[in-house]
Amino acid sequence: MLKENYNDVEKRIAAACQRAGRKREEVTLIAVSKTKPVEMIQEIYDLGQREFGENKVQELTAKYEVMPQDIQWHLIGHLQTNKVKYIVDKACLIHSVDSLKLAQTISKEAGKKGVVVPVLIEVNVAQEETKFGITTEETISLTEEIAALPNLTVKGLMTIAPYVEDPEENRPVFRKLRQLSVDITDKNINNVSMSVLSMGMTNDYETAIEEGATHVRVGTGIFGERDYSKAE
Ligand SMILES: *Cc1c(COP(=O)(O)O)cnc(C)c1O
Repeated sequence: MLKENYNDVEKRIAAACQRAGRKREEVTLIAVSKTKPVEMIQEIYDLGQREFGENKVQELTAKYEVMPQDIQWHLIGHLQTNKVKYIVDKACLIHSVDSLKLAQTISKEAGKKGVVVPVLIEVNVAQEETKFGITTEETISLTEEIAALPNLTVKGLMTIAPYVEDPEENRPVFRKLRQLSVDITDKNINNVSMSVLSMGMTNDYETAIEEGATHVRVGTGIFGERDYSKAE
């Protein structure tokens, strides 16, 4: 079943790329494996997948220890400052930087470990109260402040679009994030590349790809529904 799911997602990504006149290599699929056991992750790994996403520090580090070392682990969930030290040298990309304070902590902990951490700025484009992320108005100034910190580098922007029935409803959200990244690129800020646009999940990744996503985060579409009833 996992194999069929995975192949189906791959096919849809390729089709969306084609519709948008983009090359398949321009889009990275992140398999979001949160709550899923290592056996399932291994199955997807064996199909050739190397980029996986987790939203909790503890879960990421636990899987990091036991899974093949060539996996690229993306931290996609909200990050608390007291957990930063466990993750700075394990995540290949932190997608969820949503405050200067968090960025300062990442910078400090990365310095201690002698690494440079690639990060994305999380923007709450749709301004949902229940979601983390900064406002679109704050994005440019905060990007400038964060990029000035040592031991981290700003690779782009991330957003979590609202849950909608029809993915078309999220097209303006994706378009807005893309425009923001263009605006920031035009500012030529030191230590900022805007090469990553992390947007699109199971329900809307094809639309996101049409609007310029470079990284899509697909969980349910690959691994099936998540069961939180056993969660601690
Ligand atoms: C869980 C999660 C996803 C994947 O969601 P699906 O709808 O299962 O594809 C993507 N991004 C973030 C930040 C998540 O927490």
